[in-house]
Amino acid sequence: MSRAGEILETKKEEFGRLMTIEMGKPLKAAISEAEKCAWVCRYYAETAEHHLANQVVQTNAKHSYVHFEPLGPVLAVMPWNFPFWQVFRFAAPALMAGNVGLLKHASNVPQCALAIEEIFRSAGFPEGAFQTLLIGSGKVESILNDPRVVAATLTGSETAGASVASIAGKHIKKTVLELGGSDPFIVMPSANLDEAVSTAVTARTINNGQSCIAAKRFIVASAIYDDFEHGFVDQMEALSVGDPFESDTDIGPLATPQIVNDLDEQVKKAIASGARVLTGGKRLNRPGNFYEPTVLVNVDPSAPVSCEEIFGPVAMLFRVNNIDEAIRLANATTFGLGAAAWTNNADEQQLFINELRAGCVFINGMVASDPRLPFGGVKHSGYGRELAEFGIREFVNIKTVSISEAPHDTE
Ligand code: NAP
Repeated sequence: MSRAGEILETKKEEFGRLMTIEMGKPLKAAISEAEKCAWVCRYYAETAEHHLANQVVQTNAKHSYVHFEPLGPVLAVMPWNFPFWQVFRFAAPALMAGNVGLLKHASNVPQCALAIEEIFRSAGFPEGAFQTLLIGSGKVESILNDPRVVAATLTGSETAGASVASIAGKHIKKTVLELGGSDPFIVMPSANLDEAVSTAVTARTINNGQSCIAAKRFIVASAIYDDFEHGFVDQMEALSVGDPFESDTDIGPLATPQIVNDLDEQVKKAIASGARVLTGGKRLNRPGNFYEPTVLVNVDPSAPVSCEEIFGPVAMLFRVNNIDEAIRLANATTFGLGAAAWTNNADEQQLFINELRAGCVFINGMVASDPRLPFGGVKHSGYGRELAEFGIREFVNIKTVSISEAPHDTE
């Protein structure tokens, strides 16, 4: 696994180019993604032994402990938006735990899928330990029906997650699901406003706005709302949209024509339900899947679009009168992946930590994944956790061992 990390580091520009070619993220972000994959490989190479060491438990037996064993071949159905990271954050812990990885990657990133298989082969993993299956989603069921496949993980949409989980459920096979999000980004009066604004813009537009943990709904306290709105709109308008291979590009093309169509539909629905466009609001008038960085206000909180997942550089701003209203609005979605809240008031921080229904809460920061911290959601954002010790223990048999002294035969 350390060697896989070295390969990723050495060839990060080559892998970055593959990602940019296949799904359009800016090259500098794609190179950082390859570096992050190297990090997760190093992290599990260094910590797996510790995470999976026997855990002794004192009981009435002479000796009892918890022992971790691999489950077997695990199917990973993965999305295109972070074509390397999504795969490595599954594969690094799953392989370190002794499992086999079978990758069914998104159909629009086949070169990334093959490159990842080659990384593990070149790193010296046994043949077949990690295999890329170049199949469409229609073939997933037959793989899950195969008794040799013991579990599955899916990162993607709710529809795909529900389908994979129900097929796996018929065969009593474990699943982990990492699905969509409509993350709130809350700003209270005591926050550092300049930092909150610039982080908010990054949190919305990272990966061309196509991230499950991108902040999608900006919920701002009335006292600072106008200043936030001005700063946010100015910075969204200043973003440069264009060729993802140019170093000064902030936002590249969206991954497919279908995504631009879906995004445009969502914006039109929002406008039809009363939303006002402060900037952007349409496709860019040039060839390619480009969409203008867009800011919407007056979105009706009861309209479905207000809490659907929006995959692209489109932000919705909401004004609230107090913290209770902020929390209520933040939780008014079927998703529960991440949440960010900006405040320097300790009581408010604690209230957000306790009350936001999400798999993580970031105070005065933007939601991000980190190999050392667990990652995953609640509600329709899925279940199970990736990364940290929790991720490596998803695909293991947690075996209880209890050894008692057999009574000696007495004559
Ligand atoms: P998607 O359409 O669900 O595709 C994801 C993967 O599932 C692809 O490999 C796809 O294969 C496959 N798939 C689609 N329908 C399937 C079905 N019925 N049965 C089995 N497999 C199926 O999602 P996407 O549009 O590529 O990705 C974006 C979604 O992923 C967003 O909702 C985003 O929030 C979510 N996401 C979540 C996380 C997280 O960690 N929670 C991270 C990143 C992305 P084909 O390409 O062949 O159709």
